Amino acid sequence: MKKKCCICKKPLENKWGNNPDGAFINGKFESFKPKDRCCNKCNTEFVILGRVLKMYGIKEERK
Ligand SMILES: [Zn+2]
Repeated sequence: MKKKCCICKKPLENKWGNNPDGAFINGKFESFKPKDRCCNKCNTEFVILGRVLKMYGIKEERK
């Protein structure tokens, strides 16, 4: 069975996917199960963004 991206739910194009830990989605940091994997697109869009935000000390988007 093909693994699905835990963020966009599309099938992963590479076998192992990416660790989605720390992904920043819709203004907040998401938490995932240890086995969850995300696709390259979501990794670039959400996970790298989340890591950059954390690097700058941003916790959550304020309303
Ligand atoms: Zn995805």
